[in-house]
Amino acid sequence: NDTVLIAGAGHAGFQVAVSLRQAKYTGRIALINDEKHLPYQRPPLSKAYLKSGGDPNSLMFRPEKFFQDQTIELIDGRAVAIDRDAKTLLLASGDKIEYGHLVLATGARNRQLDVPNATLDDVLYLRTLDESEVVRQRMPEKKHVVVIGAGFIGLEFAATARGKGMEVDVVELAPRVMARAVTPEISSYFHDRHTAAGIRIHYGVRATEIEGEDGRVTGVALSDGRTLPCDLVVVGVGVIPNVELASAAGLPTAAGIIVNEQLLTEDPNISAIGDCALFNSVRFGEVMRVESVQNATDQARCVAARLTGSPATYDGYPWFWSDQGDDKLQIAGLTAGFDQVVLRGSVAERSFSAFCYKDGQLIGVESVNRAADHVFGRKILPLGKSVTPEQAADLSFDLKKAMA
Ligand code: FAD
Repeated sequence: NDTVLIAGAGHAGFQVAVSLRQAKYTGRIALINDEKHLPYQRPPLSKAYLKSGGDPNSLMFRPEKFFQDQTIELIDGRAVAIDRDAKTLLLASGDKIEYGHLVLATGARNRQLDVPNATLDDVLYLRTLDESEVVRQRMPEKKHVVVIGAGFIGLEFAATARGKGMEVDVVELAPRVMARAVTPEISSYFHDRHTAAGIRIHYGVRATEIEGEDGRVTGVALSDGRTLPCDLVVVGVGVIPNVELASAAGLPTAAGIIVNEQLLTEDPNISAIGDCALFNSVRFGEVMRVESVQNATDQARCVAARLTGSPATYDGYPWFWSDQGDDKLQIAGLTAGFDQVVLRGSVAERSFSAFCYKDGQLIGVESVNRAADHVFGRKILPLGKSVTPEQAADLSFDLKKAMA
């Protein structure tokens, strides 16, 4: 059977299909899509799309004709069970589809807020186009939003809401914004920028209850006894990887679907990629799950290459971006585990990078409005090269020299 069946038509699933055809794969490619839209980009959902006129077509990777021209079958439906012996995938409709190879690209879903009244109508999330559309439509009629979670999505939304004139409070359990993902220097910069814009950030507190009246949100009660009044709540408290399809089929899962360094599950006929995959990174010597467009698309390319005769260890180099207000944050590498941070550029001029070191070796570059430093990081880091902390801090040192 030459069918490559892909469960999930997000960034990862779409890219596998495209990369297979680019590699001249001639077999059947079928993409199971459980959302009511053509495959689309997720990052704008918490950024540009909320400011736009709400045209879903602006988000689509490709128009419908592309799928027809490439003979990539888009099948509306939800995968509910895998029969590994028969090599079939069962859809919620009852249809069964045979596969030669199955790619699980089921992504992740919102972690739900687990407090009283969390299901009130004005408690919203931002993961899917439909959810973003509800937020977009709701914003003009609301005055005051409480954002729960100061991660990337929460802060991107907060900046957009404030830009539209809303009162914005952000509730965060950690002592700084984006604490799991960036250095304190970057957290501090974004704290200052968001508070200067009039956003109030409340650290070290958790939401304990959504307060409501007649079904409408009136406030968020906090663990320190205060209540923040509001008429809208947007929740960004992380995601849960969609592993259930795999685990019900007996495939090993933990904080993701477990795959080897080539992104294969224990079953040689099933791969898993993107937000749902917990992979063994040879480069970083650890098991990890990464939520980013880079990871989803590079893993898709790796699987497509294997399926067309060029198997390789997955070796994509992590990079990420986040647009918050007028600021663009770009991250190259994995900055966790640093023991030294050196700043290049000027915080006051809103153009600087945090060069992160571990044992004297550059491991990541976090840049604010300094695209050239980001590009440098993406080039030099995969090569294992470095610049010294002194060179990084010295604006007169030409980073390009380090590439020679
Ligand atoms: P997804 O894109 O989540 O796609 C998975 C798809 O599978 C979904 O359509 C889901 O409905 C479907 N699915 C699940 N189960 C089934 C099933 N059983 N059957 C059929 N289909 C199923 N990353 C960046 O790098 N930069 C950013 O600025 C950025 N901003 C973001 C902003 C937002 C609001 C969000 C939500 C994410 C953002 N990300 C960003 C992260 C990035 O979008 C994800 O890492 C990426 O979408 C992961 O791709 P994926 O294909 O693995 O998962």
